[in-house]
Amino acid sequence: MLDEPKRNSTQDVAPFGTIFAPYMVVAKYAENNWAEPESMPLGPLPLHPGSHVFHYGSSCFEGMKAFLMPDGMVRIFRLDRHVARLQESAQTVCLPLPPRETIEGMIRKTVELCRDAIPNEPGALYLRPTLIGTESNIGAAGAASGEALFFVIASPVGDYFSSDGRSLRIKIEDQQMRAVPGFGSAKTGGNYASALRHVVKARETDQADQVLFCPDGDVQETGASNFLLINDHQILTKPVTDAFLHGVTRDSVLTLGESLGYEIVERDFTVAEIKEWIKTGEAALSGTAAVLSGVGSFIHNGMSFTVGDGKIGANTKRLGEALKAIQAGRARDSFHWLS
Ligand SMILES: *Cc1c(COP(=O)(O)O)cnc(C)c1O
Repeated sequence: MLDEPKRNSTQDVAPFGTIFAPYMVVAKYAENNWAEPESMPLGPLPLHPGSHVFHYGSSCFEGMKAFLMPDGMVRIFRLDRHVARLQESAQTVCLPLPPRETIEGMIRKTVELCRDAIPNEPGALYLRPTLIGTESNIGAAGAASGEALFFVIASPVGDYFSSDGRSLRIKIEDQQMRAVPGFGSAKTGGNYASALRHVVKARETDQADQVLFCPDGDVQETGASNFLLINDHQILTKPVTDAFLHGVTRDSVLTLGESLGYEIVERDFTVAEIKEWIKTGEAALSGTAAVLSGVGSFIHNGMSFTVGDGKIGANTKRLGEALKAIQAGRARDSFHWLS
């Protein structure tokens, strides 16, 4: 849920992603070589208008959070998983990437430089490592960019939705796809561009907050978050495939849910099953920005289907709060997610 600025109801902070921390760390790739990363004040990047990214969409990114602990230390949530996913995304879009230690070093350096900008809980420093193809060659439609830029920027963020916040209204889209199969598991701007018109239309015609993509009835994910069905005993979600993004939050909710006694069921399911499930159960979206957001209603073919009483469900709240407690250092980090 990166695309929907929301005001924090408990704190007066800027909408998600609209303010930036004052430093960035940048590395350049040319002639088969990554130069030493450089730290600098946040500012415009000099890019040739013929850069590969502008014409052929060669880009990918990550989104993760650093939290200020009660003891004053700063910790990043599941850095290893985010870096591993960035490596997969880079391969999918045919871009080079610095070695893992360099990427981690650049991310940590950004956190260190921007330390004063990190808000207290429930806020965090949202980190956005970004990789783009910069070769200036508009004839390179069928070739990988021979030059690249990898940079890390940061944005202080508040609580995306407070836990007593409103539930979401989600349009079920069972014709259109968010991303082409094989590309859906890459975190790339191209997939957002591909989904955007459907999301914009759903906002206009159905006042929906987001679209749940279910091509041919196969429930996948929304434009920017994974999708879970939850009740008092179970968490049901689609098993990972290359058609959708493998969220770190999704994985964290499943791991945490299992430890709290929920049965984790990863299998394909249909729109008809959602309608049946929500008569008694809950539905939620997961992602780094919003953690776990409760769905209050679905719109399908112009008809509205309310989830339970339309408010955020008790299990959704419980799981979201348990995850936030670990992230903020208020609960024991049993899974070693903070580093
Ligand atoms: C980033 C993203 C998610 C959520 O992933 P997290 O690792 O949980 O933040 C889900 N879907 C899409 C399309 C995404 O880009």
